[in-house]
Amino acid sequence: MSLFNFLKSNLSILDVVGEYVSLKPAGSYHKGTCPFHSEKDASFTVSPDRGIFYCFGCHCSGDLISFVAKIENMTQLEAAKHLIDHFNITIPQTLEKEFSTTVANQKSEKDRHSYICEAITNWLHQQLLVNKEALNYLTDRQISSKSIETFMVGYFPGGLKSVTNFITAMQSKNVMLKDLLEIGFLSQSGNIYYSPFEERIIFTIRDTLGRFVGFGGRIFKKNDERAKYYNSKESAHFQKGQLLFGFDLAKQKMKQQENAFLVEGYTDCVMMWQHGFENTVATLGTACNHDHLKLLSRFIKTLYVLYDGDKAGQKAILRLVDLCWNANLELKIIHLPEQHDPASFLQGKNDLQPLISNAKDIFEFFLETSTDAFQNKTISEKMEISEKIISVIAKIDNKFKKELLLSQAAATMQISLQTLKEFLRNEGHKRVESKQEENKENDNIPGHFNDIDQLEKKILFAILSKIDLNEPFSIEKELVSQFEMQIRYFLEKIDKVTDLQAGNRFTAFLEKLNTEERDWISYNMMINSDPQISFETFSQLIMQFQKQRWKVAVSNVKNQILAAQKMQDPLKLQELLKKFAYLKEEMKNKGIL
Ligand SMILES: [Zn+2]
Repeated sequence: MSLFNFLKSNLSILDVVGEYVSLKPAGSYHKGTCPFHSEKDASFTVSPDRGIFYCFGCHCSGDLISFVAKIENMTQLEAAKHLIDHFNITIPQTLEKEFSTTVANQKSEKDRHSYICEAITNWLHQQLLVNKEALNYLTDRQISSKSIETFMVGYFPGGLKSVTNFITAMQSKNVMLKDLLEIGFLSQSGNIYYSPFEERIIFTIRDTLGRFVGFGGRIFKKNDERAKYYNSKESAHFQKGQLLFGFDLAKQKMKQQENAFLVEGYTDCVMMWQHGFENTVATLGTACNHDHLKLLSRFIKTLYVLYDGDKAGQKAILRLVDLCWNANLELKIIHLPEQHDPASFLQGKNDLQPLISNAKDIFEFFLETSTDAFQNKTISEKMEISEKIISVIAKIDNKFKKELLLSQAAATMQISLQTLKEFLRNEGHKRVESKQEENKENDNIPGHFNDIDQLEKKILFAILSKIDLNEPFSIEKELVSQFEMQIRYFLEKIDKVTDLQAGNRFTAFLEKLNTEERDWISYNMMINSDPQISFETFSQLIMQFQKQRWKVAVSNVKNQILAAQKMQDPLKLQELLKKFAYLKEEMKNKGIL
């Protein structure tokens, strides 16, 4: 047994997928909202019997290892390794050797990148602990030594000497100069090396699994006129649009409480953590985007947005309005006093709790902000605002919330509720139409599978639904050759896995297919296969198929006989009549006639 198969037979796909998607039973499979595309419907299905998942919306499919690989953005091997650690699985000795050698051989680029970043982090952290000026800065901001330790906050002293020390220290950890240049931590000018991170307080950024991936450096010295923040440059391993600072530390509590706080700065995040709001994450100096919300929605139901109290903060919140309605996440806005950001608010010994209790639904916030001083606006401004409001309300799913916001909007804008509802209805039509268009596109299940004979299809999926039993269904080899090309293709692949142990055949079969084929098979396994199908029913299907084939064969011979008669070819005629008699006899013997 291979390592992957061992994992698949020792873990339930429901447990693995269930960590990311909330699943509900529906017949022989489970349903939930797809984590790989934006949707409100539960198009995502998991079959515990088969150990596979399939999404009717985006057609993604696979087993529990490919699920983890896809959602955590890892290779299959990394995913396997992650599952072993995460579920505390003991691998049998026979597999352990195979596993450790493969891991050693394939130590991925990502692992290497994270190793380099970790070595850098450790060095920077040591530098901070012996630098009074940097430490003082943090103490002045009430950042505790426990926080410094937990977030591994660091400092990069400036100057040639410190860069040389850094390079030497890294070499002793097997991190070479070229590595440091490659990830952009050092830059080169002639023979001189320097770093954009010099004289900055440095926050290390870890990915969702706690692997070190990059850095954010903040200036802190008076008269430092460089940009306030400098972040690692974007690469395959460091994508700001997909990372959230503090996520790995927040994960546990996010899961427990099903909510999180979103802030804009590293210091805000650290201060929140320090004050017991461990479920806090921060964007990396970029606006919060759809991927961020999607990532969070895997863990939480409610997101508290805690941006700066100023105009810029408010603008950033309004941008979220357009993102949140299709992210499956409830957004609540915590309104800070204008002069504060989360860190300064907490440093001032203010109590955040009352503000949390008074957090406003984002749509309510949006409505209030956009209708601010509405009556003083010009007609065209009023029209523009109303249109924007209607288009946002139209997107809300919750009927009650919709009504509530509508009447609120009507009151603020002094428009009759009736008129607003009419507006909304028009907007609604537009949306339904565009949704139908979308669905049309999604219905495109691989085209060349559409014209497959229904009977042959039934036989294929009957065989597949029993493939992992000790006594699977099978058909004679000579019969296989009579199937249509596409079905024959799959039957031949099935034939190649029949030697395997029961329980491993289906997955092995899937592995032999390309993505499109796997999609088609998974899709039909979910909707067209009947795991309860009896052997009798299967035999009847085969009988039906044989009858069809024989009919075709017999009518072929008949036609040839007619032709031979016309051509007056007695030899040929004799041969064909013999063949005809043989066919009839065979059919009688097989009970088809
Ligand atoms: Zn999907």
